[in-house]
Amino acid sequence: MTTSDTTEARTAGRAGEAAGTEPGSPRPRPVPVPDETSAPYWAAAARHELVIARCARCRMFTHPPDLTCPHCGSTDPGFTFEPVSGRGVVRSWTVVHQSFLPGFEVPFVLVDVELAEQPELRLIGRLLDGPGAGPRLGDPVTVAFEDVAADVAVPAFRLAVAA
Ligand SMILES: [Zn+2]
Repeated sequence: MTTSDTTEARTAGRAGEAAGTEPGSPRPRPVPVPDETSAPYWAAAARHELVIARCARCRMFTHPPDLTCPHCGSTDPGFTFEPVSGRGVVRSWTVVHQSFLPGFEVPFVLVDVELAEQPELRLIGRLLDGPGAGPRLGDPVTVAFEDVAADVAVPAFRLAVAA
């Protein structure tokens, strides 16, 4: 069946802690560890606000931001984090049946969402509606936030009613 590392695994950078999960002894989910680049993103998430890095040169959004802008190639993109609507559509999804991280009840759904602000602006997150929701490609979603620790929240998604 499908196995997957998760976005959180990569952002947390702590996947090594997940070895040897014992049934009946739940451990807390690993929490994201912001670095200098991602700190504004996680600070906004803690306030349940979704912000995305925007290039000061070409005004295109990029997630996650890197040292250079992938749109205009600037090596000095001067990224600023700006609020976005949190709306988007499902571009792909997967049901995760085996988690390598503690604190994730399986199965759960990961959706790859194209945000409304810009074509190909993608954000991966858990679909809080769960596997029973039967997400389909193109389904509209809105951002939601999972509080995973004090002052730490992780962006996720819920299916939205089509307008
Ligand atoms: Zn740019």
